[in-house]
Amino acid sequence: MENCIFCKIIKGEIPSTKIYEDDEILAFNDINPIAPIHILIIPKKHIQSTNEITQEDELTIGKIHTTIAKIAKEKGIAEKGYRIITNCGEDAGQEVKHLHFHLIGGTKLGTKII
Ligand code: 5GP
Ligand code: ZN
Repeated sequence: MENCIFCKIIKGEIPSTKIYEDDEILAFNDINPIAPIHILIIPKKHIQSTNEITQEDELTIGKIHTTIAKIAKEKGIAEKGYRIITNCGEDAGQEVKHLHFHLIGGTKLGTKII
């Protein structure tokens, strides 16, 4: 998708610090971390938001979550805990219109999610 920052990161047109990559998924450090560990996990397919997920994406979305669990173990935060956030649409403040999962941890997180 033209003019999508994350599609440009996938294509290597914008640099990123990659954590994991395969043919369907990319994980990379957030450029503006809000915690010691703040990684974005995205499908390589341009899906605008959760609202645009279809049945054909179900395996990829599942794989994103097993990948998150693997990354959390590798980063040493699996036991202590972490948070996964997906902002969908305007009220949630979704800035980048390419589906992404924030993996946030490495510190004690607030108990509120809003
Ligand atoms: P949203 O608000 O859409 O849920 O989150 C978008 C996230 O993408 C933000 O946390 C922001 O810091 C991150 N981000 C925006 N542009 C870039 C970029 O060019 N590179 C990286 N690594 N992260 C970005
Ligand atoms: Zn995109």
